[in-house]
Amino acid sequence: MNDLTHKLVDLRQEVKQLASAANQGKEVTIIAVSKTHPTALIEQAYMAGQRHFGENYIQEAVVKKQELKDLAITWHFIGHLQSNKAKIAAEHFDWVQSIHSLKLASKLNEHRNSSSSAPLNITVQINISNEENKSGISPAVAPDFCHGLKELPNLEVRGLMTISENTDSVAKQREYFKQMQQLFIQLGQSQKFPQWDTLSMGMSADMESAILEGSNMIRIGSAIFGPRK
Ligand SMILES: *Cc1c(COP(=O)(O)O)cnc(C)c1O
Repeated sequence: MNDLTHKLVDLRQEVKQLASAANQGKEVTIIAVSKTHPTALIEQAYMAGQRHFGENYIQEAVVKKQELKDLAITWHFIGHLQSNKAKIAAEHFDWVQSIHSLKLASKLNEHRNSSSSAPLNITVQINISNEENKSGISPAVAPDFCHGLKELPNLEVRGLMTISENTDSVAKQREYFKQMQQLFIQLGQSQKFPQWDTLSMGMSADMESAILEGSNMIRIGSAIFGPRK
């Protein structure tokens, strides 16, 4: 086994244990975040059974996707997306996790070709730690925001995503993730989207806290691929 395969095997094992400690009935999906890393590493991860990959930069992602077009990869866009790149994202991705404005959502809806593709899966990005320089909407406006998404038939609203505050305090990490889980449950009950099933939270440094607070999708970069340049 090479190093990357080892890391993936260990990660899956750890995630499984955390999920059972959290009494998570559902599986936790691992997204391998491959931004800045070459396609050779994506192929290695694929050979080791990884199927979900996340990218942050639209041009970089489109080039890589073209190189890897023979692989059955599910592509997640997780970076900040400007409305003028919505067309490219709608044409190339299976998921866009970083939905932070209704304008962006309606552009994605407009450019998703409903006759040739399945609806675009989306998660609403929440700025749970209320940081000024961070993308995402505040929990207070989430109900109205979600309501606005109902008009967009080419989008499948799957749930919520967050990038929480970068802190070493496990107590703080868990408090934010707990708030996310509560919001996820509340919105699920009030909005009744047919496929509301995804709580995307947890990265290399805080995945343990996230899974223990109910995450069922984690986005892992450096713990799989090593540090980014
Ligand atoms: C880069 C990135 C990740 C992965 O971060 P690591 O700390 O390398 O695991 C996850 N989510 C988002 C939105 C990212 O931009």
